Amino acid sequence: MTPYVLVVEDEDALATLLHYNLDKEGYRVGVAGDGEEALIMANERAPDLVILDWMLPKVSGIEVCRRLRGRAETRNVPIIMLTARGEETDRIRGLDTGADDYVVKPFSMVELTARVRAVLRRIRPGLADDRITVGDIIIDRVAHRVKRGGKEIHLGPTEFRLLDYLMQHPGRVFSREQLLDAVWGSDVYVEARTVDVHIGRLRKALNGSADGDPIRTVRSAGYSLDLDAA
Ligand code: CA
Repeated sequence: MTPYVLVVEDEDALATLLHYNLDKEGYRVGVAGDGEEALIMANERAPDLVILDWMLPKVSGIEVCRRLRGRAETRNVPIIMLTARGEETDRIRGLDTGADDYVVKPFSMVELTARVRAVLRRIRPGLADDRITVGDIIIDRVAHRVKRGGKEIHLGPTEFRLLDYLMQHPGRVFSREQLLDAVWGSDVYVEARTVDVHIGRLRKALNGSADGDPIRTVRSAGYSLDLDAA
């Protein structure tokens, strides 16, 4: 699953450059030009990483950071702060802003993309790996294979993507709309009920060979992969 990076930067030229380079690295990229737009976009689709400028119009970078940390869906999202030299760097260095890393402008795109990779690897190991293991389930993205308890599980392409996404965020609850956006894409019109159908198939496939249902249905909220509950 392609990590979704949200870039929050009010300088158009820099935003464009970041968009271009992150896209080239294979990330899905969203760009917000101010703090308010960033919060709306993060609410619509939870990013896997946020690159956040410190000095922003409307809502400041630090306030965006605070609000992202205050919301369940974005509480753990990694944030890389962009600062100009001399801009309260000491405070950011202390990272009492809740940011995971910071980069001082001007920076090279090579440096920034290296930081992005490092933060994603540290915080969400699953995003950088070809293979993720959660409990007794192993998903191999290169070979396109899934095993549970050592037994091969056969999944359709949609169920595979759905499981891949859930395995990247074990324990986290996703609404049907969030799963639609992440797995089907936000530009595709599919009814929310479709998610239930595919979750049903995924469940059936996973539970055929092992005890315990790893997919938790959270009433009126959505689904999560929860092996402790299985
Ligand atoms: Ca700025």
